[in-house]
Amino acid sequence: MGIPFVDLKTQYAYLKPKIDQRIQGVLDHGQYIMGPEVRELEEKLAAYVGVKHAIGCSSGTDALLLPLLALGIGPGDAVFTTPFTFIATAEVISLLGATPVFVDIDPLTYNIDPKQLDKAIRAVKSGDPTLHPLPVTRHPSLAPKAVIAVDLYGLPADYDALQVVCAEHGLRLLEDAAQSFGAEYKGKKACAFGDAAATSFFPAKPLGCYGDGGMVFTDRDDLAEVCRSLLVHGKGRDKYDNVRIGLNARLDTLQAAIVLAKFEAFPREVELRQLTARRYTERLTSSTSLVPPHVPAERTSGWAQYTVRVRGPARTQVEAALKAGGVPTAVYYPKPLHLQGAFSSLGYRAGDFPESELASSEVLSLPFGPYLGEADVHRIVKALG
Ligand SMILES: *Cc1c(COP(=O)(O)O)cnc(C)c1O
Repeated sequence: MGIPFVDLKTQYAYLKPKIDQRIQGVLDHGQYIMGPEVRELEEKLAAYVGVKHAIGCSSGTDALLLPLLALGIGPGDAVFTTPFTFIATAEVISLLGATPVFVDIDPLTYNIDPKQLDKAIRAVKSGDPTLHPLPVTRHPSLAPKAVIAVDLYGLPADYDALQVVCAEHGLRLLEDAAQSFGAEYKGKKACAFGDAAATSFFPAKPLGCYGDGGMVFTDRDDLAEVCRSLLVHGKGRDKYDNVRIGLNARLDTLQAAIVLAKFEAFPREVELRQLTARRYTERLTSSTSLVPPHVPAERTSGWAQYTVRVRGPARTQVEAALKAGGVPTAVYYPKPLHLQGAFSSLGYRAGDFPESELASSEVLSLPFGPYLGEADVHRIVKALG
């Protein structure tokens, strides 16, 4: 029998009574837009993360867009992020007319490298492309404004180091926590870092719904207020009083209800994710030459993905061997963003971000989830040879 890459069916089998009951609750009261489940979820997740405000919205992408809009990011602004991430992280920067400035990753954690970030900011300030590869931009006064750090595969970025760099240069910091809900950095939960954080409830994320959904987290009252206005067409006193240009970016009541049901099991699922990761790492270390993921001291991963590194050109062979053994795999991400057609106007070139480019050619994510059994892990590692 094939092993699913992400097993939502087994999760549903465990949680069916809770999920069905929550969905039925929405059908019974009929408040499909901004029903009471949205606020209930916001309150529960804000308490879990330990921040003042949680704002439900329509996707992880919108959860990134809303705080950038609230911060007033626009043309002429440089926003720094990594090219080794999902397109959404950098897409929202370009959508606002701002310029993504890519910064290479730390090859051990796949997170943005704080030292490279410092260099990149200095390069933008001085306009000196010999310091760091810069986008070609016709904007006369590109000014450093913000950083979006990505908690890739669920591992929080190095927020202490990033905060030092951002404070020194007067930059705002956003946390793309789409993959890291449930993770920790120095005793604080993911989604608690920077001026604001964004998570996603896309079905395959650690805390997923059954469609699209997301949430913004912030301790800043001003940002929370503007985000709440932006997600309902820039509403003022009500939705027919419009004080700014906004979006329709609300979280569906039904999706909030599903997340509420799943959240009851979430702390236990986080423990099971840690257990599954430990099982993989132990077996991989003793029986293969693959490099298991690295989790630095004082951090835990949310394990959105369990990603190994296949050194040398052997990745396609490993993928094929696993496929033959009925084991699906995935590559996140096969092409770094600076080499994507969508960003070709920025003028980046192959070789600009060597660690991201090397990682793209070597990473391989294995089936993962809280309900993946020990026998499955054993079978997968065996198929790895
Ligand atoms: C999934 C993801 C997003 C976008 O979330 P959606 O809910 O799909 O819009 C953004 N950033 C990262 C790193 C992601 O993995």
